Amino acid sequence: MAHIPLRMCVACREMKPAKELIRIVMDKETGRAEIDIGKKRSGRGAYICRDMECIKKAVKRRSLERQLGCVNAAEIYAQAEEMV
Ligand SMILES: [Zn+2]
Repeated sequence: MAHIPLRMCVACREMKPAKELIRIVMDKETGRAEIDIGKKRSGRGAYICRDMECIKKAVKRRSLERQLGCVNAAEIYAQAEEMV
């Protein structure tokens, strides 16, 4: 059986295969986060399910702000919602 890398969603805290989650990467220089579509960026990252419930939960709990300390979490939530 092949090894499937698992990552934890910042909202529901469930472990899921990384490719099923939206990856968000922090840019240390600017303090801004970006959604990592090509999975090519390195740096501090967070993951969230492609699920509206999880995104709403993250907004309410400020999960991304707490996890990454990014200054533009609201933008990321809006972008993630569009990907669901
Ligand atoms: Zn989740």
